[in-house]
Amino acid sequence: MTADYLIVGQGIAGSILAWTLSQRGHHVLILNDPTLPSASKVSAGIFNPLTGKKLSRTWKADELFPFAHKFYSEMQQLLEVEFLHDCDVYRPFRSIEEQNSYIAQTADPTIAKYVIDRTNDAEFAPYIQNQYGGLQITRSGWVDCTRMLQKIETYFSDKKQYSYGKIDYQKIEIQEDGVKYGELKIKKILFCEGFEARQNPFFSWLPFNPVKGQSLIAFIDNYPIKEIVNQGVFILSIDGKGKCRLGATYTWHDIDWETTEDARAYLQEKINVFLKTPYQILEQQVGIRPSTKDRRPFVGIHPEYPSLGIFNGLGTKGVSLAPYFAEQFAKFLETGEEINKEANIERVFSLYFRSK
Ligand SMILES: Cc1cc2nc3c(=O)[nH]c(=O)nc-3n(C[C@H](O)[C@H](O)[C@H](O)COP(=O)(O)OP(=O)(O)OC[C@H]3O[C@@H](n4cnc5c(N)ncnc54)[C@H](O)[C@@H]3O)c2cc1C
Repeated sequence: MTADYLIVGQGIAGSILAWTLSQRGHHVLILNDPTLPSASKVSAGIFNPLTGKKLSRTWKADELFPFAHKFYSEMQQLLEVEFLHDCDVYRPFRSIEEQNSYIAQTADPTIAKYVIDRTNDAEFAPYIQNQYGGLQITRSGWVDCTRMLQKIETYFSDKKQYSYGKIDYQKIEIQEDGVKYGELKIKKILFCEGFEARQNPFFSWLPFNPVKGQSLIAFIDNYPIKEIVNQGVFILSIDGKGKCRLGATYTWHDIDWETTEDARAYLQEKINVFLKTPYQILEQQVGIRPSTKDRRPFVGIHPEYPSLGIFNGLGTKGVSLAPYFAEQFAKFLETGEEINKEANIERVFSLYFRSK
C-alpha cells in the first residue's frame, strides 16, 4: 500500500494538517491511538485576538485570525457540520483602575479594531458582577473541537484512510526515496502526537515546555449569555441551554493527566467572584498543552531524515495557529516555500546536533 503522507496523531494538529493536505490533492493516511489522552479533546477551542492581563494582541493575530476563520467556515461547509461559533469575549473590569487602563489601551488602533465601541453591560448584569462595566472583544469565538475531531475521523475512515493504533517507532524504515512502515510505503511520516512527542525517538530533543490545564463542565440554570465571559478564567456556554465550560488552569509542574482538587477549588474561587448565578459541576477535565520554550510552534522536517516531519508545539492556541501553519507546511512540502522562521524547527537544530 502506498500514500503520500502518514499522519501520526489526530488531535487539532493532525486533523488540520490531514485536511489541508488532502484538500490540496495529496493522499494522506492517519494513524491515531484513541486510548492515549489528547489535549484537543478537552480544549475550549477559543480564539481570541486580545489576551492576558495586559490585553496583548496575540502573535500574528492580523494574519492568523482571518485565515483561521475562512478555513473553519469552508471546512464546515464541506463536511456539512457546524462547529465554528462566532461570539464576542466580554471582560468585566475588576476595578476602576482596570477600567481606566483597558480603556486607555483601546486608543491604540491595532487594539481598537478588535474592541466593540459600546458594550451592553446591562445585558450581562443579572448574571455577571460588572459594576465597573466591561470590555467586549470581537472577531473571537470558539471551535467545538470534539465535534470537529469526530467529523474528521469519520471523513477519513469512510475513505479508508484512517487506522487506529500506536505507532511503533522501531518499525520505521528510512529509505532513500521515502519511508517504509510495515507494508506501507510513503513519502513522509508527519508526526502530530501533541505532548506525547516526548516518546518519539526522532523528535524528543525538541524543547517543549508543557502546560497542564484543567477545566470544569458545569450546568448554570437559566444562563442565557452567549458571549464568552472572561476575568482571568472564563465561562463558555456550550449548548445555550445552561451547559458551560469553566476554565482554565495553567500549571508547569506535576505534568500528568490527573485532575486535582486544587484546580477545581481554584476555578470555583475565581468563577464565584464574577458569576452571580448558582451552578452545578458535572465533570472535571484535564489536558497537557504541547507548549514550547519560545512559545512558537514546531513545524518542519527532521535535521537528518528528510522523510520525517513534525507539526506540533501549538501550545495554548491550537485553534488559531493550526490552519495557517498547516498551509505553510503544505506549501513547503510541495515546493519548498519557506516556513515562517519563528515556527520552523530549524531554529533549534543546534539542540539536535548537540544531543548526538
Ligand atoms: C484545558 C485546556 C484548554 C484549552 N483551551 C484552548 C482554547 O480555548 N483554545 C485553543 O486554541 N487551545 C486550547 N487549548 C490548547 C489545545 O488543546 C492544544 O493546542 C491542542 O489540543 C494541541 O493539539 P495536538 O493535536 O498537537 O495534540 P493532542 O490534542 O494531544 O493530540 C495528539 C494526538 O496524537 C495521538 N497520539 C499521540 N501519540 C501517538 C502515537 N505514538 N501513536 C498514535 N497516536 C498518537 C493522541 O491519541 C492524540 O489523538 C487548551 C488545552 C487545555 C489542556
